[in-house]
Amino acid sequence: DKITDKIKALPKDATYFSLEFFPPKTQAGLQNLHARLDRMSKGLRPLFVTVTWGAGGSTATKSLELASLCQSHGLTTVLHLTCTNMSKSILDDALENAKLMGIRNILALRGDEPRQHEYLDATEQVRDGNTENDFVYAIDLVKYIRKQYGEYFAIGVAAYPEGYAESAYPVAQDVARDLPYLREKTAAGADFIMTQFFYDVEAYISFEKFLRNDDSGVFKDIPIIPGLMPVQSYQIFKRTTKLCSVKVPASISSKIETVKGDDEMVKEQGIQVLTEIIEKIKGSTDTSGGLPRGFHFYTLNLEKAVAFIVERCSLIPEIPTSNEVAVEEDDEGPGL
Ligand code: FAD
Repeated sequence: DKITDKIKALPKDATYFSLEFFPPKTQAGLQNLHARLDRMSKGLRPLFVTVTWGAGGSTATKSLELASLCQSHGLTTVLHLTCTNMSKSILDDALENAKLMGIRNILALRGDEPRQHEYLDATEQVRDGNTENDFVYAIDLVKYIRKQYGEYFAIGVAAYPEGYAESAYPVAQDVARDLPYLREKTAAGADFIMTQFFYDVEAYISFEKFLRNDDSGVFKDIPIIPGLMPVQSYQIFKRTTKLCSVKVPASISSKIETVKGDDEMVKEQGIQVLTEIIEKIKGSTDTSGGLPRGFHFYTLNLEKAVAFIVERCSLIPEIPTSNEVAVEEDDEGPGL
């Protein structure tokens, strides 16, 4: 299924959530994830899951393997795909395999910045006839997928509520500077937007407002799905926020710092922090674009914190009662 169709089919005031997984390095890891996927798909019932892609195609086989496993669990799957530093044949294989597996959703990303070029020269050099590498930015991938596959895939693109941070070329993060490019890649054929994770919920809500009010109108009614990373441990929290240049508001930082020696308390504080963020976003109905509210969790393949959060925030959809199932089956039945 396309996730955009699933979102459209929900009541406007509904909420939903999705889970991100990465391909484990070992067979044992994959086995563990297998069991976890089974529990999470049955117990938590995410609207969809996403599978990450190692930059440069480093996890191509494993990502496709995991995507196939997700599909076999009956989970609607979004395959992440990057386009730089990777041969076009890997990209073509991934898209073709995704289609064969029945996957209908791709999150189109750039990945690491193109190699062998000074960053600022990259666009001109590569676009000026370097046919070896047609992919410089995510927009190039969006256009390519649309050209090759028409409307078969629902395409998602990434956005950064605090502004994009380029590690190799550090400049101040600035959502206004990113805007023309985000507008351009959305207009090129994106069906949904997924964001970098954040802890500054006010920054997220103003970002959403900023996009919804953009004069171009391209963000008016596109699903914008906020990214959330549960706090798994003090070390992971510190490392991921630093690596991704994600701000931690003082009020949140102090909650986590006070308990940093106690792993269980860190997790518990983290669950509270995430719960508050989610409730705040649920409440900001004026920036939702009139769409159901979705939340995307970067799970790091871990189950417990996410399970607590979706439970506490009442994000787990009810299982249809046997009556509703019967009606649905009747609707789709041969009409006897
Ligand atoms: P782009 O949209 O290409 O933007 C990159 C930068 O270039 C931005 O600053 C943008 O403003 C600027 N820019 C865009 N177009 C132009 C232009 N024409 N001229 C000048 N500047 C321009 N990485 C992985 O390797 N694997 C994953 O699975 C993965 N999953 C992710 C999931 C999400 C939800 C997010 C938010 C990120 C993910 N990433 C992943 C990271 C991502 O690949 C990096 O952040 C990457 O550096 C940027 O990707 P992008 O698609 O946002 O790039």
